[in-house]
Amino acid sequence: MKILVIEDEQKIARYIAKALEGEGHAVEVVSRGDEGRKLATTKPFDIVLLDLALPGCDGLDVLQAIRQNSIATPVLVMTARGEKNDRIHGLDLGADDYLPKPFAMKELIARVNALTRRKGVDNSPLLRVGDLVLNETTQDVTRGSTKLYFSHREFTLLKFLMRHSPRVFSRTELCEHVWQSALDDETNAVDVYIQRVRRKVDEDFPVRLIHTVRNVGYKIESPPA
Ligand code: CA
Repeated sequence: MKILVIEDEQKIARYIAKALEGEGHAVEVVSRGDEGRKLATTKPFDIVLLDLALPGCDGLDVLQAIRQNSIATPVLVMTARGEKNDRIHGLDLGADDYLPKPFAMKELIARVNALTRRKGVDNSPLLRVGDLVLNETTQDVTRGSTKLYFSHREFTLLKFLMRHSPRVFSRTELCEHVWQSALDDETNAVDVYIQRVRRKVDEDFPVRLIHTVRNVGYKIESPPA
């Protein structure tokens, strides 16, 4: 896999690159935010590892630029800031996972593998709810004739809800299934992601598919015919 590492601390960057190369990946390292933004939006990568405090431009700006260009490459944010606001803001801007520094290299590699692993267990590649169609193989999502674009994590959440439609899932269940253990009990991250998926799936359409079930959680369901 091709991995872009945007990190200005040379020692950490080298350490990460060495570890990932050891796993057989091709790693490109840049230390400036603006350089990273340019690379991430012009060259294809399988995953981007992103520091937040960077010279040139902030990591969150890089992330925003990636998503504004409708690039769905998984982004793993690494930061020493550790503040919840940055974390939620990062998730809202389209980060797929978050790794607080300092981290063990084993942990980083596990997260990278989790983000890039294909989870196609079901052998039927098309999931349908109403006029919403998700193709698990090509990862295309359409509603009616409109193509919709999702980050890796948004896609995983949508796919999970669609696969089990119309079952209702609590935030905790969604955390477990979609985030595995990565976010523990960060249930507000689930709300953030639901909001974003809902915006894309429902906002421009007359019929809503994603439903909040009060005091229980969320589900996706097509309206009765
Ligand atoms: Ca930094």
